[in-house]
Amino acid sequence: MGRNFYDWNASTRVLFGPGRLNDLGDQPMPGKKAMVVISSGKSTRANGYLDRTQAELARAGVESCVFDGVGPNPLKSAVEAGAKAICDNGCDFVVALGGGSVLDAGKAMAMFAAQPNTDLWDFAGGITGKRMKPSKPSLPWIAITTTAGTGSEVDHHGVISNPDTNEKIGVGAPDLYARLAIVDPELMLTVPPRFTAYQGFDALFHSVEGYVSTLHNPMSDMVDRAAIEHVGASLVRAYEDGSDLDARCGMAYANTMGGYSMELTSCVSQHAIEHALSAFHHDLPHGAGLLLITRAWSTFQAKHTPEPERFVDMARFLGKADAADPMDYVARLDELMHACDVADLKMSDWGITKDEFGPMAENALAAYPDRFAIDPAPMTKEDVVAVLEESFS
Ligand SMILES: [Zn+2]
Repeated sequence: MGRNFYDWNASTRVLFGPGRLNDLGDQPMPGKKAMVVISSGKSTRANGYLDRTQAELARAGVESCVFDGVGPNPLKSAVEAGAKAICDNGCDFVVALGGGSVLDAGKAMAMFAAQPNTDLWDFAGGITGKRMKPSKPSLPWIAITTTAGTGSEVDHHGVISNPDTNEKIGVGAPDLYARLAIVDPELMLTVPPRFTAYQGFDALFHSVEGYVSTLHNPMSDMVDRAAIEHVGASLVRAYEDGSDLDARCGMAYANTMGGYSMELTSCVSQHAIEHALSAFHHDLPHGAGLLLITRAWSTFQAKHTPEPERFVDMARFLGKADAADPMDYVARLDELMHACDVADLKMSDWGITKDEFGPMAENALAAYPDRFAIDPAPMTKEDVVAVLEESFS
């Protein structure tokens, strides 16, 4: 099972480790004027990360301006507004400074700003995207990640939401790898516990899904095992004490490995179903959406997969040394969720209603047939609805 081949173009230069933001000014820059993309929240400014980044860019001889219009689950309109600001200000590269939403949006802006007279959805997949190839090279971009979740600093797609079509799908281009990524766990010390948990479980699930996908291969197994082990050793510690730099380093490492996993294999239907949830409910954080469905989804997969030993492996990677049954993975997952106080999230808290389950299942299957195609155990629409119903409270 799985494959004995892989493609890996990990072309992003990664500076990993505490304090590495201070090295930005010493790096060769891909342009003369940067658009620094940050979130619409206050934290990037309040924590001093924006000032520090702009000072480092100035030290490297680069001018910079700021676009601060990216929200959670970044919207098509935010990417379009950012791309316009890049063009209007004559910027020749992008620096995305923030969490996964900012990195995904900044990455999509770097591509879209270079394609005049187009619509972002010309380059999207999913249900209504036109799947066109960009005709011009993307602008270069630099990733500075302030959270441990998406691994977006080393992959070449951004996930963007289109509220007009209820789609939340990937937009990318083959040249959209960041030129440089800074993964500095010191920048993650200020992430509040609740978001440390949401993002940490997202990082875990990228590698869990990669590990059980039918595309798994020797290289992805190495990366995914490393990520899952680091989550097992570090997530609860980072949740309980956000100032634990060693735990933050472990989660940052797991996060970047998860990004590599998406290049070597792919997420499967768990992510496709979550994207349908947050496409219908934009204020649902991605990690929370995954946590809502993960026990029911994992139980279905652990019971039906033709490779049950992979679920036993993952329970061991997460710290259950005596694991012997695929459901031990679900039990260990449940323990971690309780330890991070995210075992009792409720769909109804985000306004999700049962009558949406049919349309959500259809949306997930239509937007992501490629992810369902590589599931360990195939899922029908009825199976997806059953997982959603079992997850409801
Ligand atoms: Zn994710």
